[in-house]
Amino acid sequence: MKVAVIGAGYVGLTTALSLAYVGHEVVGVDLDTDRVARLNRGELPFYEPHAKEMLALVRERLHFTARYEEAIPQAEVIFIAVGTPSLPDGTPDLSQVRSAAQAIGRHLGEGFTVVVNKSTVPVGSGNYVEALVRRAFREAHGGEPDGRLAVASNPEFLREGQALHDSLYPDRVVVGAEDRRAIEVLRELYEPILEQSFAPPPFLPRPERMGAVPFLTTDLVSAELIKYGANAFLALKISFINELARLAEKVGADIREVARGVGLDHRIGPRFLQAGLGWGGSCFPKDTAALLAMGREYGLSLPITEAAREVNFSQRNLIVDKLLAELKTLKGKTIILLGLAFKPHTDDLRESPALALAELLLERGAFVRAHDPVALPRARQEVTLPLEYAETPEEAFQGADAVVLATDWPEYRTWHWERLRGLLRTPLVVDGRNFLDGKALSAVGYRYVGVGIPALGILSKVEV
Ligand code: NAD
Repeated sequence: MKVAVIGAGYVGLTTALSLAYVGHEVVGVDLDTDRVARLNRGELPFYEPHAKEMLALVRERLHFTARYEEAIPQAEVIFIAVGTPSLPDGTPDLSQVRSAAQAIGRHLGEGFTVVVNKSTVPVGSGNYVEALVRRAFREAHGGEPDGRLAVASNPEFLREGQALHDSLYPDRVVVGAEDRRAIEVLRELYEPILEQSFAPPPFLPRPERMGAVPFLTTDLVSAELIKYGANAFLALKISFINELARLAEKVGADIREVARGVGLDHRIGPRFLQAGLGWGGSCFPKDTAALLAMGREYGLSLPITEAAREVNFSQRNLIVDKLLAELKTLKGKTIILLGLAFKPHTDDLRESPALALAELLLERGAFVRAHDPVALPRARQEVTLPLEYAETPEEAFQGADAVVLATDWPEYRTWHWERLRGLLRTPLVVDGRNFLDGKALSAVGYRYVGVGIPALGILSKVEV
């Protein structure tokens, strides 16, 4: 099928790549001309595992443009995958969606076209987009695009860092629409993924025991609410274990054991039960805020979602408290922050808990020296906080007073911690993800402090 994808960010690019991979003809549209030029040269605008290899594989069926007229008129399916960042009151800023919908209306082709909201948008946005497309069509051409236009919601559940995997091997595909034809068109579009009939790319093997993918069809608003429901639930699962971790610390329990015991219950499941610094990123903070804003619009409070946010954002203060308890003051101390991206395998810094923590440390007079395996170039461009950046473990550790692990990049586990210890002024590790091997660290002389787990080792000054 002929597909246009508006927006070449994490979601738009992944959608374009995976649909081209399973055989569709795709044009990606982005207003950022630099991004378009780079993508057409086979370069990625951000770090996402396997996206570059995939881009090379699908070259013949995917190209990018900044001109809507090169993509919209011939498309049978048009995805809107532009950003929907939070406004100060928590409602999503729909200006990118609006301008995409208006452009679609101006350039709509002669054939039946399904316009698909893939951006995360509040309930009612499907109707809003349809109205915008129709208005723009009327203004540009006179008359109505009757019978030629249907709008659907197709929320995206991918995880950055595993975006292509999630797109090719999803848990489910959700499509909400009022027009049956839209659902049929999208079922056909997704068929290779639903049936898993494509040959997997060499770098992304199909998961074992992967069967057919459930295709859930709903009305428009239910699909829109499913996306918020899924994200809010995942966010509150993490916040719940963080709340329990606070109690675990008081009573002397180990939250990792507690989470394991709780998560082995099939009704609960083990995932998203890792205590730590809490969630961030471009989705959970904004989508939970949007859910609360939606509730307010209908005179409804959503106290569980509210509490999940409250617990989450105060987790960062707990890490500061742990540092204070060990070091007594943070003024003039140099704190190493391991990991700046909001999670491993991405260089996305949006709403990163590491940066929120860095801000708190700077406010208390500390110097913050940051390391990240992939996000440093982006941090140098985007972060306005006065951070020091370290390219190597040695540069990071030299003369510092404490190490805080903020992002659980696997390589931090394999660093030569014993050798690095000698570079620190005080061998203190605060593990904001309960990720490092605390026993091994304390065995080589570190004081190791996690979240909701017993601390190990004693803090001794090292002469440097
Ligand atoms: P992003 O900010 O990475 O990308 C948005 C892209 O759209 C940018 O490249 C921008 O230049 C382009 N753009 C903006 N307005 C445009 C317009 N009018 N025409 C053409 N291009 C335009 O955003 P993202 O992270 O990919 O998120 C997109 C949407 O998907 C959001 O609603 C988000 O909530 C949702 N979502 C994101 C994720 C994720 O992990 N990032 C997961 C699921 C859902």
